[in-house]
Amino acid sequence: MKYLYHSYQDTVDFFKQLAQQHPQQVRVESIGETWEKRDIILVTISGDITTADQKPALFYTGTIHAREYIGVELAIAFAQHIIEGIYYDPRILEAFERSTLYMVPCANPDGLEYSRNHFSFWRKNRRENVDGSIGVDLNRNFPVGFKKSNTPSSNIYPGPHPFSEPETLALKEFVETHENITIALDYHSQGNVFFPAHDFRHENTIDTTDMNILCANMAEQIRKISGREYGIHQGKPPASLISGSGREFYYSRGIIGTVVEVGSQNISDYLNTMTEHISEHIPALLAALKEVPNYAKNNPLNRPEGFQLISVSSAEVQLSWESISLAEDTYFEIYRSTKYKAPCSRSSLLAVTKSRSYTDTCLESSRLYYYRIRTVNRSSGLKSPFAPLLRVMTTPGRDELAKSLHPVAAETGYLGENSKDNKSHFGRNSLFAGIDTTKGECIALITFPLATMPDNAIIRSVRLNLYPINRVSATIEKYGEWNVHLIDIADDLDIYDFPAVKTAPKITTVGRPTKSQHLTQGIWRNFTFSHQECTCFEQQLSKGDSVSFLLEGPSSLLPWRDSQMMQWDIGYGDFGYGLEFRPHLEIVYTQPTAKLEIPATRVQSTSPEVQYPSRLLSGFEPDGQRIYGV
Ligand SMILES: [Zn+2]
Repeated sequence: MKYLYHSYQDTVDFFKQLAQQHPQQVRVESIGETWEKRDIILVTISGDITTADQKPALFYTGTIHAREYIGVELAIAFAQHIIEGIYYDPRILEAFERSTLYMVPCANPDGLEYSRNHFSFWRKNRRENVDGSIGVDLNRNFPVGFKKSNTPSSNIYPGPHPFSEPETLALKEFVETHENITIALDYHSQGNVFFPAHDFRHENTIDTTDMNILCANMAEQIRKISGREYGIHQGKPPASLISGSGREFYYSRGIIGTVVEVGSQNISDYLNTMTEHISEHIPALLAALKEVPNYAKNNPLNRPEGFQLISVSSAEVQLSWESISLAEDTYFEIYRSTKYKAPCSRSSLLAVTKSRSYTDTCLESSRLYYYRIRTVNRSSGLKSPFAPLLRVMTTPGRDELAKSLHPVAAETGYLGENSKDNKSHFGRNSLFAGIDTTKGECIALITFPLATMPDNAIIRSVRLNLYPINRVSATIEKYGEWNVHLIDIADDLDIYDFPAVKTAPKITTVGRPTKSQHLTQGIWRNFTFSHQECTCFEQQLSKGDSVSFLLEGPSSLLPWRDSQMMQWDIGYGDFGYGLEFRPHLEIVYTQPTAKLEIPATRVQSTSPEVQYPSRLLSGFEPDGQRIYGV
């Protein structure tokens, strides 16, 4: 089975042959030698190889972890795709006119061969450690945040010191001598997720917007091909972040970098999913290539400064920004979306303007919108990086009220079929839903307090938002879906009892189900209630002081598979990622109109000559004098 994949020698032979056939476009060189004396090859692809190093470049690295074959397989397929299209496909022609592609298809040749020939799940390189164990995790051997370890046998042993390994040293030397690299993509498996460089600051780097957009634009291409959703997760807060990875090293050198975790298994089934992953990642790579010139150090366009909100109403948002003087042929592009981490492509381009302000109209009330802006030069085709995104919530409409509710910690948690103490998960552990062979089936209960909601509220819209934090244990492709049900919890029900909660009456399922191929992480999932579901929710208001939802995934596994589990954040407690990641319900409602009758306590009327106590009169007396009533 493994032999369906390319060996390291096959890979080297393939690229050498490609370079022989297309010497103007392809160059192969060795950038180092492994412990087992294999050349680490670097492939350059360019519209004109003689000027390749003068153009901004994308740096592709694959299979730094031995068992993650996608790096090699995608590099070969992508090179084939480019070479076939470089003479006629306008997208490829344009990309290679402006940019260069550097690829290290396999950053761990010794490990790949060991995985192919001996132990499939091998991850590290093949260094002989002092304690007799073998291997360093190359993706922990870079210097940013390097963490020393005394356990060489560990699967994530970072090595004796940063760049102790010939493989990482080769990458270092190449990157340090190629200042033209602007974007680095490091291919791994698994998880269907992008992990942009985080610099140990979760979603709070100056390039956060740029990296999220780069990943979202790539994800949009993937979705177009296979319908699969990819997560985008810039450092998981506050869990310990990966130290000493290549991505952070590239980012420390001013390169926009991300890890791309492909598929739902380390070694994808070639006959089925590997082919699909390659097909969906080729257009994603082309989308990344398009951005390469925009992040060149000599790009004269700066990101717009001072992007800010001037005013907001229920239907309009006014934005403004500053900018240094604009050349004649330079303008701004403004993008809008209702989702964070959304792509900036034609479908979300809201306006093209030379002005320093913009008013967006026709918006929905009580709705979150995200705005992004960049500068564009028409003549050069260059675009600036993005200004940090702007998040704006429109105000409620004229007769509307809006409320955001968070769960009751003590009544929110997951219940495992095999767990002896489900109570201990409540208020502190992640919301697991799905099934694995250890925990059995898991379901999650989420309870919201209703004390601040009026009993007679007329519900206009409800949206339940859940933050997915890890989908790596959902390992079966296209299997199962995750649903949220509004449930009826009887007063005497034991909420820590798995069968009791599992069989509690379901009032309605809310929103659309999330299929396994649509599970992501790092991107809020919204369950938007239909009108009928809003009515069911409305009925709960007068019934009690809280409302409960059940989150459930698949309840059985396929033969020989051990996990299809999804982890959503609770926000609370030692395992939660922080209060901002708690589930929340966004509710827009109104209240019935009431007719108020206020009788007057005293009336009287007066004219210049006569008083009329206790009578309310107005008009003229026969003699023409006016009467006033109060
Ligand atoms: Zn990996």
